[in-house]
Amino acid sequence: MKTELIKKENRNILQTYKRHHLIVDKAEGVHIYDVEGNEYLDFLSGIAVNVLGHSHRKIIQAVEKQMSRYTHLSNYFYQDAQIEFAEKLIDISGYDKVFLANSGTEAMEGAIKLVRRWGNQNGKKEIIAFTGGFHGRTYGALSLMDKPHYKDMMGPFLNNMKVIEYNNIEALRANINENTAALLFEFIQGEGGIRPADRDWSNEIFRLRDEFGFKVIADEIQAGSGRSGRFFSFEHYNLRPDVVTLAKGIGGGLPLGCLLVDENLSDVFERGMHGTTFGGNALACVAGSVVIEELENGIMENAENVGNYLERRLLEIQKEFPDKVLEVRGMGLIRGLLLSFDAARLVSALLERRVVTNSASGYVLRILPPLIITESDVDVFIVALRYCLSDMKI
Ligand code: PLP
Repeated sequence: MKTELIKKENRNILQTYKRHHLIVDKAEGVHIYDVEGNEYLDFLSGIAVNVLGHSHRKIIQAVEKQMSRYTHLSNYFYQDAQIEFAEKLIDISGYDKVFLANSGTEAMEGAIKLVRRWGNQNGKKEIIAFTGGFHGRTYGALSLMDKPHYKDMMGPFLNNMKVIEYNNIEALRANINENTAALLFEFIQGEGGIRPADRDWSNEIFRLRDEFGFKVIADEIQAGSGRSGRFFSFEHYNLRPDVVTLAKGIGGGLPLGCLLVDENLSDVFERGMHGTTFGGNALACVAGSVVIEELENGIMENAENVGNYLERRLLEIQKEFPDKVLEVRGMGLIRGLLLSFDAARLVSALLERRVVTNSASGYVLRILPPLIITESDVDVFIVALRYCLSDMKI
């Protein structure tokens, strides 16, 4: 059956993904089960999506209840599911207003349109992003990314967009001017290898913002929704961006993207200027409400505490294997190990030991468990990691 299904997939689906050679039967809590009955410890959570783990009882109940009322109506109607979620999000985030979309790249697209329109109204044209950033697969996001593989032979891209070196203060000073409409970055780069922004560099961005009057967009799609131990990863920096994008974890497994803006940008879009058919779908919104409630009910604290424990254990591993593990990165439950060899090899070895992880930017093992994990889940992971690293030839 396994080979037959995989052949069918190959025949019918565009081959854009490198998939693991396993077919999933079900997933519960921090575990995934394949059709052969094997249990996997999930330290990837659907690439930072399943913050409450899989098949969370409250998400299932909320979605089932909503399904029995209605699934989709269109944004022509006021819907309590959407309105309640938006209120929770505004309360927890401290932002003024939200636009609801379906995915990360769509939230980014909204952010880009918003700052472009604001920029055009204020005589500022250019948007600047940074090397190693990942913002999605639509043209707006791709135009603000540098990695050739995502863009090869797909041009032309949007104009008045520039990508400069991440964490380089001189590059900032050389490129920002009166024409700068916005800067976009991740405070912790996910795909870029779990790279945190330097404090001096990010402080300089906000100093320059005060000098030149551009807007700062924080892409919190991967590091946000409580994963860093705070709702937004930028809260660790005591800085406040003007625009924030969220997706992945906020929907708890349902497709939900959010564009949050500060008060001074709340009126940039007029009615009809921006929209989406499915954005703010009722099922995704009730799941999103459960996510926020659970984060506030101790899950975010758990991410911080278990995240600190994970860091301690990873530092032990680094001490044991100093020629293989060069650096431990990240905060809360967004962690990375910089390796001296291709991280894909370690991902495969861990999968053989029934642990799911992933690699980022070639040499980084990316660790993104559900935020509900316990210290004993970390211990299981560390045992598998130690076993794989001792076996690994470099
Ligand atoms: N921004 C960041 C930081 C991401 O990690 C991703 C996805 O990996 C995106 C944007 C794009 O999100 P989506 O895949 O939901 O379009």
